[in-house]
Amino acid sequence: APAPTANIGVVGLAVMGSNLARNLASREGNSVAIYNRTHAKTDELVTEHPEAGFVSTSTYEQFAASLHKPRAAIIMVKAGAGTDAVIDALVEVFEPGDIIVDGGNALFTDTIRREKAVRATGINYVGMGVSGGEEGALLGPSIMPGGSDESWVTLGPILRSIAAIAEGEPCVTHIGHDGAGHFVKMVHNGIEYADMQLIAEAYDLIRRGTGKSPVEIADVFAEWNKGELESYLIEITAEVLRQVDAATGRPLVDVILDQAGAKGTGAWTVQTALDLGVPVSGIAEATFARSLSSHPEQRSVSRELPGPQDDLAVDDADAFIEDVRLALFASKIVAYSQGFDEIRAGAAQYDWSIDLGAVSKIWRGGCIIRAQFLNRIADAYAQTPDLPVLLAAPYFVAALGRAQDAWRRIVSTAAAAGLPSPAFSSSLAYYDGLRADRLPAALIQGQRDFFGAHTYKRVDKEGTFHTLWSGDR
Ligand code: NAP
Repeated sequence: APAPTANIGVVGLAVMGSNLARNLASREGNSVAIYNRTHAKTDELVTEHPEAGFVSTSTYEQFAASLHKPRAAIIMVKAGAGTDAVIDALVEVFEPGDIIVDGGNALFTDTIRREKAVRATGINYVGMGVSGGEEGALLGPSIMPGGSDESWVTLGPILRSIAAIAEGEPCVTHIGHDGAGHFVKMVHNGIEYADMQLIAEAYDLIRRGTGKSPVEIADVFAEWNKGELESYLIEITAEVLRQVDAATGRPLVDVILDQAGAKGTGAWTVQTALDLGVPVSGIAEATFARSLSSHPEQRSVSRELPGPQDDLAVDDADAFIEDVRLALFASKIVAYSQGFDEIRAGAAQYDWSIDLGAVSKIWRGGCIIRAQFLNRIADAYAQTPDLPVLLAAPYFVAALGRAQDAWRRIVSTAAAAGLPSPAFSSSLAYYDGLRADRLPAALIQGQRDFFGAHTYKRVDKEGTFHTLWSGDR
């Protein structure tokens, strides 16, 4: 057998895998072995990218033989059964101390299960979140690896070499053991859902409130992108709104069917939050808003459902737009605060030591939610590492203080005009829930004790109490 020449391997050469392999190959010191189930794709990649100097392999045995020890291979195949099939094959040809990395979008509980099974063979298993789509994979993604400390020793330098760079720092950190990386990637996607929904609500309110055209609203977003909302999603929103449909000459956004798709990571974030008892209401509303949009048979009843008499009538367009901007910023703070709360709760539940400030820093580049704003989150955790809730950090308290009047005006205006603003309004409800001295949860405890003898606690003394209710059962 020829001597091993590669220091990293990639299995799975569809869009993500081939771009990641090219990214790896482009960095000083890397030699990349590649394998794909359908070998023709391997040949194709080698032919199209001679500059990469790929080590082409056509069997898992050849693939393993081409890698230095400890071997390290990144799997980029169809999540689910495809991932399991490749892991089984690699476990056969790898040896204790080697490293199998799953860079696909796996559910973190699958990663925990796989890590346990692979670790039993002495091989390291790393579940790794990769964000940034195909462009990120090629030019520099945000990378969220879990797995053992031992595997990080080998992987760290390689991953740092291919990650996006934000303010001089590579967008990768060892998140925590076993499923921690995929967990954090999941929450990243949940926050992405909330961010997108909030932007969509802002656009909708401005359009209906001011009558501005998509192109004019694109200018509003471009302007916002120069301030505290500066982010990739705001930037591409302006681009999407500017786009004209070649076939009809209409704004493309008016030609696209208004039914939002989803691949499931938003739903995972919400399902997991429910299990952990974490109120990620903004992410949940964003996920449900996509579901609602995708039920044409239910939406067909629209004309039968009564709405308010008056449409939205805005006198001062500029003032209204500034209110929307502040409502968006405040709701965005809530969405991120809820997402970080889920990571905090997940870390406690699964015994991961996750540095929340470091997570916010690796999201500053490469990924879909990249934004200036993440620096403020890093600052908040640097100042107070055990913040009970992110939005209580001084910077965010001040920002919410500046925004709240506008936020309330926008939510009430939207409700009065019959415009759906699920993420804006649920974020405000969450904020006011946290602010409340007393919540009607006391009444719920009374109800629970009434029908189920679930007992309650008192404000004035220790202990657990049950009332002999005299109500007619
Ligand atoms: P994909 O379409 O999800 O998967 C195609 C690849 O999987 C092909 O290489 C295919 O091999 C291989 N494959 C499927 N079943 C297999 C099996 N049983 N055994 C061996 N190989 C198998 O590819 P993708 O779009 O590049 O995505 C790869 C992963 O990245 C997925 O987990 C996806 O969720 C994730 N992803 C992430 C992002 C992101 O932004 N981070 C974006 C897209 C996708 P053949 O050529 O032989 O069919």
